[in-house]
Amino acid sequence: MGYVEEVFEKVKQKNASEPEFLQAVEEVLETIRPVVEKNEELYRREALLERLVEPERQIKFRVPWVDDKGQTQVNTGYRIQFNSAIGPYKGGLRFHPSVYVGIIKFLGFEQIFKNSLTGLPIGGGKGGSDFDPKGKSDREVMAFCQSFMTELCKYIGQDEDVPAGDIGVGGREIGYLFGQYKRIKTSYEGVLTGKGLTYGGSLARTEATGYGVLFLTEELLKCNGNDIKGKTVAVSGSGNVAIYAIQKAQQLGAKPVTCSDSTGWIYDPEGIDVALLKEVKEVKRARLTEYAAARKSAEYHEGKGVWSIKCDVALPCATQNELLIDDAKALVANGVIAVVEGANMPTSLDATKYLQDNGVLFVPGKASNAGGVATSALEMTQNSERLSWSFEEVESKLQNIMVNIYHNIDDAAKRYDMEGNYVAGANIAGFEKVADAMLAQGIV
Ligand code: NDP
Repeated sequence: MGYVEEVFEKVKQKNASEPEFLQAVEEVLETIRPVVEKNEELYRREALLERLVEPERQIKFRVPWVDDKGQTQVNTGYRIQFNSAIGPYKGGLRFHPSVYVGIIKFLGFEQIFKNSLTGLPIGGGKGGSDFDPKGKSDREVMAFCQSFMTELCKYIGQDEDVPAGDIGVGGREIGYLFGQYKRIKTSYEGVLTGKGLTYGGSLARTEATGYGVLFLTEELLKCNGNDIKGKTVAVSGSGNVAIYAIQKAQQLGAKPVTCSDSTGWIYDPEGIDVALLKEVKEVKRARLTEYAAARKSAEYHEGKGVWSIKCDVALPCATQNELLIDDAKALVANGVIAVVEGANMPTSLDATKYLQDNGVLFVPGKASNAGGVATSALEMTQNSERLSWSFEEVESKLQNIMVNIYHNIDDAAKRYDMEGNYVAGANIAGFEKVADAMLAQGIV
């Protein structure tokens, strides 16, 4: 049995009840195989892969809080500090009822390579809770966030671990979390990113992940003899990533025609009205039925269905495993050119393979959605400098980072004779830097 197989067998035995984590590990190990085989003796002796797949630290804690009826509720909080070889742990917090240790581990593992790809000095981590902010009052969300941070604050710090948002954690939650950290620690520091602009946030951080997806897509198409301008785009999700992906797609001359949430989806052949979508999702926190009610050209459908719409470019921006094999077949049958992931691991392994085998340009989230964490790192830089850069300055840095990521993953794929395989390119390019740093730092 080869080293990669041996390590994956051990990971399967140890983490049998965490399918999302196994899926993420399998994809990475499979695609870095040529690098591993080249260095097998050294990696084996130093147990490099065994260390890579084992989080440095896992924190799990009780989060008690009181709801508006006076009833005490109890949730579980997590922070997984996966790998700090190239910088302090960095990665978002997810508040969603589906959260358990396997979800946080898969996200933390992916984060290691994503953060490496940004070219910035940030290690990988992730956290969250099974708390569901949906339908809760602002006071309930604040009570939860304060309790969550009362425990989490023991393990984070601006040079140690800097969380940010993810599903269910936006500006409101980051504000409550930051306030509680400052109150307990008596320290005004950049311990969280995605902060409001009045208290240390960076311009363009809100837009960064979605904009970054489009900057990378633009470069991808350009380098493959095509153009984003005039393309029809199918987007899933209607949260932070989806909204700003739709906005930037329009700015670049493309036409996004779909979006979705956890109960239904919209097809709007005239193009999504971003201002209306923001009003429904960011202000009213309502369902997409309200979008359809306010817009004549829009059709609303219950359930899933975004990938059945004919499009040139597909951008899955909602959640993991939302683009499955039948969706991939429908996209290919409809002539899709590119699938670029906005969410983390939205495409299943077999769907990814089907798209690649059918000549679709496919870029994994760890490369294409890295603009969010990259801009978070720019927020950390501004916080340390006690300066704020203009929107244009941050956006232009973001664009450079995304263009560099594209060329970096493209080059890595070419170096290992896998031209056009951006999954392999992203995993190899991300891994090489982390592996070098881990080897240099000894057995820790
Ligand atoms: P949001 O909470 O803002 O939005 C998530 C969107 O996806 C919502 O439309 C939500 O629907 C939908 N959704 C969530 N869970 C499910 C589900 N189980 N089934 C169907 N739809 C679902 O999150 P973000 O936009 O921040 O994150 C989206 C994805 O992007 C995630 O995978 C996240 O990890 C990834 N990501 C986010 C980054 C960021 O900077 N925010 C950075 C990099 C990656 P509803 O409105 O009904 O809840």
